[in-house]
Amino acid sequence: MAEFTLDLNDDQKQVRDWLHGFAADVIRPAASEWDEREETPWPVIQEAAKVGIYSLDFYAQQFFDPTGLGIPMAMEELFWGDAGIALSIVGTGLAAVGVLANGTEEQIGTWIPQMYGDANDVKVAAFCSSEPDAGSDVASMRTRAVYDQAKDEWVLNGIKTWATNGGIANVHVVVAVVDSELGSKGHASFIVPPDTPGLSQGQKFKKHGIRASHTAEVVLEDVRVPGHCLLGGKEKLDQRLARARERAQSGGERVKNAAMATFEASRPAVGAMAVGTARAAYEVALDYARTRTQFGRPIIDNQGVAFQLADMRTQIDAARLLVWRASWMATTGKPFESAEGSMSKLYASETAKKVTAQAIQILGGNGFTREYPVERMHRDAAIYTIFEGTSEIQRLVIARTLSGMPIR
Ligand SMILES: Cc1cc2nc3c(=O)[nH]c(=O)nc-3n(C[C@H](O)[C@H](O)[C@H](O)COP(=O)(O)OP(=O)(O)OC[C@H]3O[C@@H](n4cnc5c(N)ncnc54)[C@H](O)[C@@H]3O)c2cc1C
Repeated sequence: MAEFTLDLNDDQKQVRDWLHGFAADVIRPAASEWDEREETPWPVIQEAAKVGIYSLDFYAQQFFDPTGLGIPMAMEELFWGDAGIALSIVGTGLAAVGVLANGTEEQIGTWIPQMYGDANDVKVAAFCSSEPDAGSDVASMRTRAVYDQAKDEWVLNGIKTWATNGGIANVHVVVAVVDSELGSKGHASFIVPPDTPGLSQGQKFKKHGIRASHTAEVVLEDVRVPGHCLLGGKEKLDQRLARARERAQSGGERVKNAAMATFEASRPAVGAMAVGTARAAYEVALDYARTRTQFGRPIIDNQGVAFQLADMRTQIDAARLLVWRASWMATTGKPFESAEGSMSKLYASETAKKVTAQAIQILGGNGFTREYPVERMHRDAAIYTIFEGTSEIQRLVIARTLSGMPIR
């Protein structure tokens, strides 16, 4: 087990500097254009694929870094470049992690390469869980998966919403209800292979921020997938459902559902994205405050401005420490006894919203225009308190964990 240290090792520093270079030279200069176009930045994803950033290998290397700091460090640098483009680059990773966490070795080997494609023909993947009536309340999911034993096929019907890369993905990972009596424990995940009839894109959302990332509804109408597309396989699913039914009948101890446990562990990664956006806005504001002159002196000479920057930097560093702690705990198998994963996401995402708003204030009128990047960063930052569990849901998780009470 890796001892915790705040010193990045030489390999980590090299990766960080390489990512920072890509973020500064390729992502940041393209940010404004793709934000305005509100389209997936395919050429930038292709560049990332060419240098090896958009690949399973790179993602897996960071994921399995024994210190736990690989993923947060990578997310911070890429999202420092631009949140919308970075989400287009890492969005496939959400679906890939779904397969890595629940799939068999054969499923991992078959589907993950198809999610990424290759540098000459890049592909993306989508993870589809949320529905119009099942956002925070995942147990209200309605999309059904019914097994057709005669054909060894699963038939999926329902509407998914808010899916990053939904409808444009080569591979969709879809979460569906297989036993409606069991709430979220009766859910299972399915691969929908490329060009499967019945899957179509619904509405594409026009968003407030992260506009370079494609977000859409995914409609599933009698989508038939082969039995081997059930992640983990039928035998494992049947065993899991049998255990859940037994527990439900005996009124036994409430066991944390696997998806929720995965979310708890993945939340620090979203916290790290928020740290990247916050740091980017803080740096622009610091630079501006040093050079903008009013009343015959740089505006940073005023405590009213300098103290704001002091608070911004302090909160960013505090957020990063919470993120790193949670990532280290998740990687080294330490249980989140105080919901440390949720704490890191809550604090970092709220910090990003606050810091980006302060950055606009420090830039004055310029901050309010699209000539400067902080207004885009502020629009982007709003997503962090919403996806992968809203701030209210993080507080609910933390409060329930601390109190042991079913707080509502
Ligand atoms: C840009 C974007 C990308 C996304 N990408 C994906 C994706 O790739 N795949 C995917 O499956 N989903 C994705 N999502 C969905 C996202 O995870 C949900 O939007 C989120 O979980 C919130 O659900 P909701 O929007 O239905 O809000 P709701 O659950 O309706 O919540 C509305 C408000 O009520 C509050 N609230 C709800 N319940 C409680 C409670 N018990 N106590 C206190 N407050 C409460 C919430 O905090 C929120 O403020 C994405 C969303 C967006 C906007």
